[in-house]
Amino acid sequence: MANPQGDLNNTFYLWVRDMAYSPEYYAENRERHLAYFKKYREKYPEKEKARHKKYRQENKEKHAEYERKRRAIKRNLPHEKYSTEDVIRIYGDICFICNKKIDLLAERRSGRKGWENGLHIDHLVSISKGGSDTIDNVRPTHGICNLKKNRYSFTARRT
Ligand SMILES: [Zn+2]
Repeated sequence: MANPQGDLNNTFYLWVRDMAYSPEYYAENRERHLAYFKKYREKYPEKEKARHKKYRQENKEKHAEYERKRRAIKRNLPHEKYSTEDVIRIYGDICFICNKKIDLLAERRSGRKGWENGLHIDHLVSISKGGSDTIDNVRPTHGICNLKKNRYSFTARRT
């Protein structure tokens, strides 16, 4: 049985999948996709919202990666793909600021319970100051240590 909405959703997910796997495919079909997404959003605004929210929740890591990449590209800085696992594998789970163990199971988002001991990935030279978003420019830190560092880094760097 034909289910117009189901078909539409299915097409949508296939496209999202193809785009994720092939930048060339995306470039070739960009206009068509944009028109399609516009139509989809107009038709199912609440669905699109829910989908974004769900995606963000399920892909916090990917989303953070995307944000970092976007910031680096915007400032025309070098960037590369790396994951939290890469950072931990290379640098370990010891905070590079205070040299104590990081609780990898703790909340990572500032303000959530226990976030102070959770993992933050700190840029040695922050992107806003021209640092690159590459694995050699990041280190694991505690959330609280990263926060303190950022608060004082401006003075520290000037000395
Ligand atoms: Zn620390």
